[in-house]
Amino acid sequence: MHTRHSHGEATVREMYLAARARGLAVIGFSEHSPRPAAFCYPHDYQDRLEKGLPDYIREVRELAGEAKRNGVCVLLGIEADYIPTREDFTAAFLKSHPFAYVIGGLHFQDEWGFDGAAADWAPLPRARRREIYVRYYEDMISMCESGLFDIAAHPDLVKIFSVGDFRDWMEEKSARALVGEALKAMRDNGVLMEVSSAGLRKPCREIYPGPRIMALAAKLELPISFASDAHCVNTPAYAFPALADYAASFGYKESWVVVDKERKHLPFTASGRQ
Ligand SMILES: [Zn+2]
Ligand SMILES: [Zn+2]
Repeated sequence: MHTRHSHGEATVREMYLAARARGLAVIGFSEHSPRPAAFCYPHDYQDRLEKGLPDYIREVRELAGEAKRNGVCVLLGIEADYIPTREDFTAAFLKSHPFAYVIGGLHFQDEWGFDGAAADWAPLPRARRREIYVRYYEDMISMCESGLFDIAAHPDLVKIFSVGDFRDWMEEKSARALVGEALKAMRDNGVLMEVSSAGLRKPCREIYPGPRIMALAAKLELPISFASDAHCVNTPAYAFPALADYAASFGYKESWVVVDKERKHLPFTASGRQ
């Protein structure tokens, strides 16, 4: 879950209460992380986030203590950008804060935040889009090999504004081989694959990752973790029963969470709740 400390709409407490109302017993906060200065969106939240980060950490910690007394587990996590040329920056940041879990996310290629605006994609020819897809999965391999992350976020976010082209690309053997390498890098480096309902709320209108990638992941027995990537009080645990059905249709019977850097599994049933 994200909060008002970045570009979310609600406070830490409001998000917590919304997650409780959905019946969650394990509630993870994974606010965005600061990025090196050059890497920003045209309308960015980095200034606010940098100022608010100590408050985020303090507020989630206080809430975790209170929640524990009520038998609920609240986790202080982070969604950190992986920027291949600035691994040092991310490593130093993560070292200075003891997060319960770290989600690694790819959102930038060079200084371009590729998930920022559909208008950026509109003029791109198909060949250029394919280069972007290829680089995305090459970066994902480096991200997994960096040893900095517990979970790989939205593992086909790059499809966000061109889902048709992305699907066509995935029909090719070379694309599936590359994506397969990225999934193997997750498995072999102990990184869980996020299965996220955020894609359902974005222009691609499809769970992250799509069915082709789910099938590859299931074949590799790659462990998964469910996420809603909530940015407002309406979306904690958004469409979780649909995520369970989706994962079950590929043979998955359990999902995982990371608590204080240790994996714990949560069985689920197809139409059920965790
Ligand atoms: Zn966000
Ligand atoms: Zn993200």
